[in-house]
Amino acid sequence: MRLFYSLILSVAAVNAAAVDSIWTARYVVTMDAQRRVIENGAIAVTGDHIVAVGKRAEIDRDYQAKQRVDRPDAILAPGLINTHTHAAMSLFRGVADDMNLQDWLNNFIFPAEAKNVNREFVQWGTRLACMEMALSGTTTYTDMYYFEDAVAYATKEVGLRGVLGQTVIGFPVSDYKTPGEALAGTEKFFKEFANDPLIVPAVAPHAIYTVANEDLKACRMLANRYNKPLVIHLAETKHENDESLEKRGKTPTAALEAMGVLDGWTVAAHGVWLSDSDMAILKARNTGLAHCPSSNMKLASGVARVVQILALGIPMGLGTDGVAGSNNDVDMMEEMDLAAKLQKVTTMDPTALPAETAFAMATIIGAKALRMDSMIGSIEKGKRADIITVRLDQPHAVPIYNVYSQLVYALKASDVTDVMVNGRVIVRGKKILTIDPGPVMAKAAEYQEKVKRSLAK
Ligand SMILES: [Zn+2]
Repeated sequence: MRLFYSLILSVAAVNAAAVDSIWTARYVVTMDAQRRVIENGAIAVTGDHIVAVGKRAEIDRDYQAKQRVDRPDAILAPGLINTHTHAAMSLFRGVADDMNLQDWLNNFIFPAEAKNVNREFVQWGTRLACMEMALSGTTTYTDMYYFEDAVAYATKEVGLRGVLGQTVIGFPVSDYKTPGEALAGTEKFFKEFANDPLIVPAVAPHAIYTVANEDLKACRMLANRYNKPLVIHLAETKHENDESLEKRGKTPTAALEAMGVLDGWTVAAHGVWLSDSDMAILKARNTGLAHCPSSNMKLASGVARVVQILALGIPMGLGTDGVAGSNNDVDMMEEMDLAAKLQKVTTMDPTALPAETAFAMATIIGAKALRMDSMIGSIEKGKRADIITVRLDQPHAVPIYNVYSQLVYALKASDVTDVMVNGRVIVRGKKILTIDPGPVMAKAAEYQEKVKRSLAK
């Protein structure tokens, strides 16, 4: 009987297979292995994944959709992947700018966090940042903060994909008073989100200079026991490197390697001060890196040797860092533009990091850095439906000779029109569908006063 019924349906659809939605666009930028850019392209989506990618005429011939999204004057691209941020810090946006990292951390951020950060703060801050990320085309982000289970719930609410790292740090913080407590909490977090379609829980030892050796090792063991990632800040500043060389006789990378901390799934942020032998270690360990040009420029941390790192085949994605003093937004369109230009100006070579590579860092290379490239990072059959459309009907978007140049050097976060994550539309026509922005904006204003008062004392 069931066979008979489906037979009738397929005849009725003239051999066109039923799918949930068809998306069409002037250009489909796939970021697949051939780097295909399909003019008048389309994709078919069913459930959480992409069923087919091709010319609009082929997709329309082969598939029949319940829903259509036609964007004849837009680019359809993989969702952007932010490989390093601290989402809830959006509520500290701009609270202390224009100072060095140690001053900023010790005299502003750590005290401001001690006085303000609790579960509720993290929930509202994460909602705010996730809204900003969704509206600017980010579909996956990597986080390091406190109360990371609250981060996970807020992330799911907005509908983003997250690799979310529970912080482990060597002094009492808002959620846990000791690294031991933090590790126990992280294990609980791993179990709670063991099989979540959107959330990959992670352990996040803050950095080699804020976490004791034994705790760093314990983080690695916990991550490996549950096959989850370890995320960490690494070789961010010259100060971090010099201190490590002085105290340990080794660079931070070599010291972590000697302790076995890099032996497993790792995403390390910054990698500004890496020696050649550090790079060899990271290559051997297949460590994912997050390049954060805004943050490195703003804090004058230095310039990562992105060209060499990528040439070695080390997956280095892009991250915004922030959202407080190291970068005041979570705008990946800006990060791509800065990544390309920063390499050019510091190598005095305009060919150093082309637009296509910068866009790859924000998509497929970022996915590799997270070891999630079998699922996300490109528009390919079978991959998760994490996609964005970017409008081309604005003065700054025409004419268009090269899609990558347009995406990296001309288009803005505000040109992102639609966003789908895991097959669910979360932004349509520049409006967020999953959460009411009103209360989030009101809370941001409320926290502004509260944070200001707490720092005045
Ligand atoms: Zn950071």
